[in-house]
Amino acid sequence: TTFTELGVCPELVEACDAMGWKEPTRIQAEAIPYALQGRDVIGVGQTGSGKTAAFAIPIIQALLEHRQRFFACVLAPTRELAIQIAKQFEALGSAIGLQRSVLVGGIPWTIQTISLAKRPHVVVGTPGRLLDHLTNTKGFSLNKLKYLVLDEADDLLKVEFQKAIDDILDVKKLRRACLKNPVKVEVAPKYSLVDTLRQDLYVVP
Ligand code: AMP
Repeated sequence: TTFTELGVCPELVEACDAMGWKEPTRIQAEAIPYALQGRDVIGVGQTGSGKTAAFAIPIIQALLEHRQRFFACVLAPTRELAIQIAKQFEALGSAIGLQRSVLVGGIPWTIQTISLAKRPHVVVGTPGRLLDHLTNTKGFSLNKLKYLVLDEADDLLKVEFQKAIDDILDVKKLRRACLKNPVKVEVAPKYSLVDTLRQDLYVVP
């Protein structure tokens, strides 16, 4: 299979090419066509399976069709993961002018408010810091959000994040965005390290 056969647009095929990605990984081949159709997707695959691009590619493609600020929000349980995700959005999307903000703890607040003032297309963050900005940073709103991704959802749905995530969903009235008839794509682990399986879900409000 090629990215083109999955329905990926030429600009993004080129970006994948530039990354040296010759063909889609399995989770990408399974998830991308559904996501491009606008279906909600629950993706299960190991770290290293190419899951980030499996949601980043459809989001960037949708953005190309309908340029909008604060278009997508990706939540991740750790700073490191959020930064990795943001880097991948940057790598895939910078040629087409994608702007993103990373909202995680440990980085000065003002750097993030300056970044948000540019009204990025995609925000990536950890729940606590993202909620802080939603509450306190003027002009930052997710009212028009089109895509919500919970990366490593099994961790994000743990008790420690529950309040922040509930508040994020409330603040933005994203309750209606709960998964609608989601399709689950699952890639059997290459090695039988079942405990490293991660579940991610993304939602089209
Ligand atoms: P992830 O599972 O999203 O953390 O991705 C793991 C690594 O796979 C990252 O370094 C990506 O750059 C890389 N990757 C993603 N998609 C592909 C692909 N189709 N072909 C080769 N490498 C890829």
